[in-house]
Amino acid sequence: MGKPRVPVKIVDWSEIVEWSRGLAARILESGWRPDLIVAVARGGFVPARLLCDFLDITDLLSVQSQHWVEAAKAAEKAILKYPYKVDASGRNVLVVDDIVDTGETLALAKRFIEREWGPREVRTAALQWISSVAKFKPDYYYIEVRDWTWFQYPWTRLEDLQQFIARIFREDERARGRILGEDELESLFREWYGVAPADFGDYWKLALDRLVEKGILERVNGGLKLLKR
Ligand code: AMP
Repeated sequence: MGKPRVPVKIVDWSEIVEWSRGLAARILESGWRPDLIVAVARGGFVPARLLCDFLDITDLLSVQSQHWVEAAKAAEKAILKYPYKVDASGRNVLVVDDIVDTGETLALAKRFIEREWGPREVRTAALQWISSVAKFKPDYYYIEVRDWTWFQYPWTRLEDLQQFIARIFREDERARGRILGEDELESLFREWYGVAPADFGDYWKLALDRLVEKGILERVNGGLKLLKR
């Protein structure tokens, strides 16, 4: 099999706990202690909650970032969805996300908190940092990724899987406008993503059912087809 179009690595819960514990150890080693943790929604939630546990921290808030496609512009820009204000004066704030890819999200959250919340200091942390593409390096990270990969975290299993499947039906010449049998879909999936449907366990069936419920796919003659909308 050749190189997948979108290289995917499935991350399981035990790795998340291990990576979060490792990240907490890096923060402890640095001697700096946060008073408040801010999770960047939605990817930062689980790592931030685990960091609270490993670092003995009770104060946890969240800001939500959203990628906004500016009218008539191809580029996507990150914005904060609910830019509320908090008095964080005199406090050390740690902003946490799952991964730094372009780095836009974490950089934006850091700037916003520095400007609007008046903290003593803001530092950033992520489980993973894609050093070959990121414009921003977090103060703390656990894993440095060199070759770009889509990390399929356990909290977006169903969401990602639906997108992966729909993408094949929309973009692959061999799938567009056709009915795909289960075996055909499985082999295209492996080719596209370098992982197998079986690696997703029960989620595979859940994702197909959800795509059918939403009217994105339809079942025809024992196969699946993209529904035109
Ligand atoms: P960024 O491009 O750094 O602003 O990333 C924005 C958000 O998109 C991250 O916090 C992740 O939740 C998600 N994300 C971006 N790149 C990846 C990737 N390679 N694997 C998994 N999730 C990603």
